[in-house]
Amino acid sequence: MKRTNLDGWIRRQEGVQDLERKQIEEIQLRKLNILLKREKERGGFYRSLPDRLDTLEDLRRLPFTTEKDLIREGHRMVLTSQSGIERVRSQETSGTAGKAKRVYYSAKDNERTVSFFAAGLSELVFPGEKVMVCMPFSGNRGLGELIAEAVGRLKGIPLAAGTGRSYGELLDILDVERPQVFVGMPVPLLSLLRLRPENSLVRALVSADACPDTVRKEIEARLGTRLYPHYGSREIGLGGAVTCPAFEGMHLRENDLIAEIVDEEGRVLPRGEWGELVLTSIEADAMPLIRYRTGDITRILPEPCPCGSAVIRLDRVRRRSRCTAMEKLDDRMFQYEEVVDYRMRMEGDTLYAEGYLRKDRADFPEELEGYPIRYRWKTVAMEDMPCYAGKRKITGMEKR
Ligand SMILES: [Zn+2]
Repeated sequence: MKRTNLDGWIRRQEGVQDLERKQIEEIQLRKLNILLKREKERGGFYRSLPDRLDTLEDLRRLPFTTEKDLIREGHRMVLTSQSGIERVRSQETSGTAGKAKRVYYSAKDNERTVSFFAAGLSELVFPGEKVMVCMPFSGNRGLGELIAEAVGRLKGIPLAAGTGRSYGELLDILDVERPQVFVGMPVPLLSLLRLRPENSLVRALVSADACPDTVRKEIEARLGTRLYPHYGSREIGLGGAVTCPAFEGMHLRENDLIAEIVDEEGRVLPRGEWGELVLTSIEADAMPLIRYRTGDITRILPEPCPCGSAVIRLDRVRRRSRCTAMEKLDDRMFQYEEVVDYRMRMEGDTLYAEGYLRKDRADFPEELEGYPIRYRWKTVAMEDMPCYAGKRKITGMEKR
């Protein structure tokens, strides 16, 4: 089996021949110490931390950074000058009175992300192929733009489909351009494949949302190939971990990120155990984070990857709490192949589903997860839009 292309990318980026655990950990400790020194010299947010650690294990003794810290003190975490900032990504949060979380990126950070995306996508994008990019295009190096740049570097042709188009517009792109590859969220991909069973797509990378088993299995059956899940988040530079040809977990960008898994009390767990993912972004230029609690639940796979790489792999990643409920619902609802998409809200103790069907069907379950459920379906029309532009969740549930 071919080794993950990420392995070669890390070796090239770091100028090393071999990439066993020893080399990876040397790279991580060296970069961590450079970061701690930088914080001290610039009087950064982390200036009171030691300016040098002797071993990677010592990282465990440093305090966590939480989402709350990021919301309240994010601007103090920036290590570059204002003019060095190329892009600020804001995200509304449900915590801390709905204040936005801001993450700052320099041109160097964005370049690194494009380069990582190109390495990850090189497993499934080949020269001359068209890639339908269904991620947000927000101008000035948004996520969609960075993915399109990476596709271009692989000599592929990006199609900027974005996340704001109707089914009619998306199907037009599919029919007219005939892309081979899809990059986007899993449910919108499944909707398209259900609406247009005869299509040109043969491979797909999914990211930015949970991918329940029902959805994954049907996508893989319809494409005739395995799916490439990716994990990333705004806080750590968008690109984080990507699937290799073994299709057993996602290799982490370990030369740029140090991963730990912790339990609810913040104790570091051994490999193989499930817990919260904590990341330290040792390569970040504008806004490095030390021991950031992502709120994402996963584990580091304990066995070496069949592809032969020593780079660690994350198992599937779940958001904590309310998104998990939506993932469970999706797993159940998409078993009905008439469903194109639906949104879910909770009022009192009742769930309300509203969505689109390809053709009528009446025998949906009367309760899900112990809650009664009411439906409002309509037959899908070409001007309808996918129900969620971002992560799928049950609205009205966050108050619980
Ligand atoms: Zn692998």
